[in-house]
Amino acid sequence: MPPEHIETIAVHAGRRTDPSTGAVTPPIHPSTAFERPVDGSAPPYVYARHDAPTRGALEETLVALESGGAAAAFASGTGATAAVLRTLRPGDHVVASDDLYHGTRRLLRDRLGPWGLETTFVDTSDPDELRDAVRPATRLLFCETPSNPLLRITDLAAAAEIARSADARLVVDNTFAPILQRPLDLGADLVLYATTKYVNGHGDVVGGAVVARDAEAVEPVRKAQVHEGAVPSAFDCWLLLRGIRTLPHRMRAHAANASVVADALSRHPKVTRVRYPALADHPGHEVAAAQMSAPGGMLSFHVRGGREAALEVVRRTELCIRATSLGGPETLIEHRASIEGASSTTPDDLLRLSVGLEHPDDVVADLEAALD
Ligand SMILES: *Cc1c(COP(=O)(O)O)cnc(C)c1O
Repeated sequence: MPPEHIETIAVHAGRRTDPSTGAVTPPIHPSTAFERPVDGSAPPYVYARHDAPTRGALEETLVALESGGAAAAFASGTGATAAVLRTLRPGDHVVASDDLYHGTRRLLRDRLGPWGLETTFVDTSDPDELRDAVRPATRLLFCETPSNPLLRITDLAAAAEIARSADARLVVDNTFAPILQRPLDLGADLVLYATTKYVNGHGDVVGGAVVARDAEAVEPVRKAQVHEGAVPSAFDCWLLLRGIRTLPHRMRAHAANASVVADALSRHPKVTRVRYPALADHPGHEVAAAQMSAPGGMLSFHVRGGREAALEVVRRTELCIRATSLGGPETLIEHRASIEGASSTTPDDLLRLSVGLEHPDDVVADLEAALD
């Protein structure tokens, strides 16, 4: 009987007791080459860029977690994104969220633009804007929800419907909400992760992954994986497998902690606005409640007094760490506009928080002390 609950899947997927030793924890196979049988027939593995046991175990686990058809693991979230985009051809058109991870925006605009890919950036939280941006050459809708860093919510079922009627594919960067949101179930064709973040969850791996609803849909992505070579190391795959075992529990804790922090910040006189989908005044509140099982661990907030006041808060925190990235055990705070640089459209009074796994009251106390 296959397990039905996500916690059980996360613990057991891709895991087998090692027959030669009885080891319960899976081994790491760093080997790059695999010996052929004497009759010259193809062994299960040939060469580690093409396929390798530890990567295979990770991909199998990701497929089980998403109830997908197939997966491909990459050396970074950016590598996974580039592989998906490189399945398109020059002249093809992409519609993407205008509040997208800034690296993805840069990839589309500065690297794939000159190669011939055309992208229209729209606020995908408005289904009409999304629909109006579609053209005959549109092959891909690229959404991120909750978005980074404005925490906008895109209705994924509506986006999937628009993609279907345009004969285009819907790709969802689900880095902010693994487990909590299941894009393939909502009609997405591909789900993409910077596994660097929550999926690994310990701040010690750079990785990426693509999971497709239909196994055939991952084939072109796998070509980019194998022939363009952005593959993860065996050790990184093994660390990711270890991280995934606790992922459902970590996501629940991140969301519970972020809810406490969001409530406290929204009552603070120096905070003019908190962007967190669980808050009733969030414009995407209802869609988020319908498509996410919990609101996630990311939030952003606006500080009264603008850029200097926001930077001062970041300078004063003691527990919250001044660093980019997200999804690890430590609460990280950052002034997003500074990180994104000159082309950033992020408001400069905005701070982004990746709420960690500390006790939330300690995080609140640190933020309140920094704001006061
Ligand atoms: C970090 C991030 C990426 C890029 O991942 P890397 O592993 O840094 O290449 C893509 N999308 C989102 C939402 C991210 O947060």
